[in-house]
Amino acid sequence: MENKKDIPFPEAGATAFFGYKRTDGFEVSLTLRDETGQNLLEKLEGAIAKVKKEGGIPLPLRSSGFVKPINYIEGRVCPKNGARLVAGQGKIKEKCENYKWGFNEKKNIGTCDYLVWNDQSPETKGRDMAENPDYS
Ligand SMILES: [Zn+2]
Repeated sequence: MENKKDIPFPEAGATAFFGYKRTDGFEVSLTLRDETGQNLLEKLEGAIAKVKKEGGIPLPLRSSGFVKPINYIEGRVCPKNGARLVAGQGKIKEKCENYKWGFNEKKNIGTCDYLVWNDQSPETKGRDMAENPDYS
């Protein structure tokens, strides 16, 4: 259990997308990743400076067709309703695909409330294990 906590999630850290059109007309899209948002911003600034220097034209992010893929956890399902589990980000370890956070409501507005936090107290950890025997 201790070791597992040290393994970073595939999508841990920060990601930034940007694209630009080169002077020869080619469009380039880049994905930058880093452990922290601060490092990422520095990388992004560097990349943008380079694009400017080369005369590239920044492109707006495509609003559709560039959606972050949902990272489903394979081999396990939600212990509450059998739906797929989604690997979480940051403090969230995993959650049911039917869990939906309502930003206005400030609560779960989905049909399932299964969600596991990363930094758990021994108390909640015990509860999660009871609810999900596969949790380890
Ligand atoms: Zn569920």
